[in-house]
Amino acid sequence: MQFFDCHTHTEFSSCAEDVTLGGYVERAEAGCHPFAITDHSAQIFYPPDNRWGFWTDDAEAIFEACREEGAERIRHYIATVRAAQSCGMYVGTELDVLPDGRMVFPEGLLESLDVVLGAVHSMPTLRHERPADEVYAEFRAQVEALAGHGIDVLVHPYRLTLAAGVPLTDELLHWTVACAADAGFALEINGHKGFPEEDLRMVTLALERGVQLAIGTDTHRWSEFGDFSYHEEILLRAGLGPETWHGHLWRPTPAAAEAAAG
Ligand SMILES: [Zn+2]
Ligand SMILES: [Zn+2]
Repeated sequence: MQFFDCHTHTEFSSCAEDVTLGGYVERAEAGCHPFAITDHSAQIFYPPDNRWGFWTDDAEAIFEACREEGAERIRHYIATVRAAQSCGMYVGTELDVLPDGRMVFPEGLLESLDVVLGAVHSMPTLRHERPADEVYAEFRAQVEALAGHGIDVLVHPYRLTLAAGVPLTDELLHWTVACAADAGFALEINGHKGFPEEDLRMVTLALERGVQLAIGTDTHRWSEFGDFSYHEEILLRAGLGPETWHGHLWRPTPAAAEAAAG
């Protein structure tokens, strides 16, 4: 089956490598699989000379100081991607939230997007090497904030905590899947940095609870684009045959699909 890739980056994300918006347009026009452009909201919102400011303890102060110009940068970015939109290409964002839960995005604009990803990208408790229970509490607070903003998909849920050596407890896993079920968002299998055992646990529980899964390559370089081998491996290991995938995988609304069809 053809996957919908909910998660790709362009030159508008500071950590992107060789990918460009123009390159995606070429691929869409050539008839590749459907995908969404989802750059990091904070790296567009924050000042060009401080695009990593969100990842510091000054994140809130910098946000306050650039609120209007940051909102304008996001509006301009969304208009740019929408103008470039071509067949099978969707317009989205990878939404960041501040530690207090405020979104790093202009009010009232999320609703215009085809795909809203939510990410836990910066955790002060990890930066300051706080005890695990504080890390878990901060994770839950950020996910609740993202849910409140109406995300479609929670992406790479445990990337930060696992990379920092904070294990995925059964309690946190159950909490996340219950939150997804209650709020109605999907959970991403992320191909950029896989955590196979934790992804398998997450997928297995999501299937039990009827929570949808989203396929994201999180493309930062062209070699990642269209590579669904990791996702297929996880789905198969979870006991799902290819004939069942369609029923478990998240896709944008028909209205978004119509816009993307041009
Ligand atoms: Zn991310
Ligand atoms: Zn990403």
